[in-house]
Order: sequence, then structure tokens, then C-alpha cells
Amino acid sequence: MWTDTHLHLDASEYDSDRIAVVQRARELNVTRFVLPAVGAFNFDEVKSLAHSIPGAVYCLGIHPMFVDKAKEEDLLTLKQKNSGLNRRSKIRGFGRDRT
Ligand SMILES: [Zn+2]
Repeated sequence: MWTDTHLHLDASEYDSDRIAVVQRARELNVTRFVLPAVGAFNFDEVKSLAHSIPGAVYCLGIHPMFVDKAKEEDLLTLKQKNSGLNRRSKIRGFGRDRT
């Protein structure tokens, strides 16, 4: 069993073959996926996508490529989104929750 630890599966580049990408990965024994958000604008999308794919978890944060575009309130949004997570999830750095 392998884990893809950094997969931006929400990116538009995957719009036409997102499910096929996951299926091909599974065929290669990649069964767990960490989907990182890149900014507050895609926190909910990444969370929803992770919940729709067995073996996927998400992590919330601001990607280095998007720091210049981030707003101060994005940090408050991040804090609010993480506030519902249990301690173990935060320590691992994943945004996974049980909802
Ligand atoms: Zn990245």
C-alpha cells in the first residue's frame, strides 16, 4: 500500500479525468491520498473532494505559491476550519475530521 502525500486533485487540470487518475493510482497500489488546499478559496472544495474518495484525507493551509494572494482574513478562516478538528488531526497536519 502506498500513499500519495501531495495531490492537488481539485486542480482544473484534472477536471476531465479526476476519477480515472484515482483509479490508475489504485491499480498501482496507491490507496491513500493527501489532498492539500492551496488557499481559503478552495478549503471547502478540497474537503468535499477528500470525503468523496475512499482513502483520501485533506489538509488546509496556504500554499507557498498563493501566499502573495492571501488576505489576512484567510488566516482567520483557516483557524476556524481547524477549530473543529481533534488534536490528533492537527498534530499530524492533516485537515481530516470525522464529519
Ligand atoms: Zn502543492
